[in-house]
Amino acid sequence: MTKFYEMTPCERRQCLIREGILTENDANTLESDIALDDTVANNLIENQIGQFALPLGVARGLIVNGKKYDIPMVVEEPSVVAAANNGARIFALNGGTTAQSPAQHTVLAEIVFDTFPDGLNNTIHCLQQHHDDIITCAAQAKPSILQRGGGLRKITIDTPGRFIKIVLTIDVQAAMGANIANTIAEAVAHLCEQWVHSDALTAILTNLAPEPTIATVTLKTETLATKNIPGERIAQKIVALSELATCDIDRAVTHNKGIMNGITSAVLATGNDTRAVEAGAHCYAARNHQYYPLAQWDMTNNLLHGRLEIPLQVGIVGGAIRSLPTARIAQKIGRYHSVQTYQNILASLGLAQNLAALRALVGPGIQKGHMALQARNLALTAGAHGDEIALTVQKMQSTAKDLASAQQILQEIRAARTIPTV
Ligand code: NDP
Repeated sequence: MTKFYEMTPCERRQCLIREGILTENDANTLESDIALDDTVANNLIENQIGQFALPLGVARGLIVNGKKYDIPMVVEEPSVVAAANNGARIFALNGGTTAQSPAQHTVLAEIVFDTFPDGLNNTIHCLQQHHDDIITCAAQAKPSILQRGGGLRKITIDTPGRFIKIVLTIDVQAAMGANIANTIAEAVAHLCEQWVHSDALTAILTNLAPEPTIATVTLKTETLATKNIPGERIAQKIVALSELATCDIDRAVTHNKGIMNGITSAVLATGNDTRAVEAGAHCYAARNHQYYPLAQWDMTNNLLHGRLEIPLQVGIVGGAIRSLPTARIAQKIGRYHSVQTYQNILASLGLAQNLAALRALVGPGIQKGHMALQARNLALTAGAHGDEIALTVQKMQSTAKDLASAQQILQEIRAARTIPTV
């Protein structure tokens, strides 16, 4: 049977239709609707002058909390989707991940004052007295989120440095929540200004989500074996790499980049805000004032245990999700029916991506797989079309993986195809 990665894009779509994951309509949209409607594109951002296409792929068979998922990913880097599949395959041999997200999807917004004429303690006391007024103001600023079961949950006051900071914990239900939180924060800030007797310095959400999603996995070491290295040795080296990342920031940042390869691609596919997720992830990695790996690995009794902790500021409604037809199809393929499901899948994908990268690093090396896939990119850059791409890639397996080799091979393919004249 032809493997999914060996099929043509059209055959892959047909396969997903047969599996009941896509409808004919979805497949047609994916095939033909590669460009956004002009009105959508022009209204989504400012100064729009064109569109920028990227491939949409799918990582298959990631088991999360006992259910199997296909994860749409949008990415320009070769090997990211292949690595996700590889990690998912190894996880599946071990029953998949267990993942948990905060039961209540909240974001924090902060209203900060840098001047308070009545003094620090009096101002804090005064703000505390107005607790109920702040609750009412927040409800009036965004009544629809209350009707949906969300809204302002908690008010706390903090004093970082010389500032007074009012922190609002807002339940944003199924949305990512930046606009909802900012609307509420600005309204509350205006109200507080009259009690503080000065202008607020800022009123905006923080991109650090209050609680992380946690994904864990336990792997039998024999499932990690490569052609030449036993699984136990691979596992020991993965543990060593994980330990290195906790004491070497240069390794930690690349370790985390590998995790974000998967998460950012899957976040982009649904039209969510990748910058918010990246900023939150790296801030969380440095939460103890030292930059740490988001995922860590250790071994007991011949079992490799992986754990990833990451805050994930994403939504399944709002933002650009509705305006992007492909994002809606991605959401459907991923079966992201709740924010928590989506967060659990993202964290599990990040852990799978991390495992695949570490295993490649300690096994055959990262470049072997990378450069095999990079050859396709080089063939395209050299100007290969149609079947020239596969032929160039095939011949490049035994040459240097650089542009000059790709150009040389392409020239030879074309020369061999030219019918000699007599
Ligand atoms: P929206 O402003 O689109 O708000 C989500 C909307 O979805 C709600 O207002 C609500 O509309 C509607 N909705 C429908 N069903 C639900 C539901 N079940 N739960 C919650 N809302 C529902 O988006 P967000 O507030 O999520 O903000 C996300 C956008 O903000 C992203 O595009 C992001 O890039 C951007 N942004 C990010 C910032 C940052 O990260 N620092 C800063 C500023 C913006 P209704 O009013 O009908 O209830």
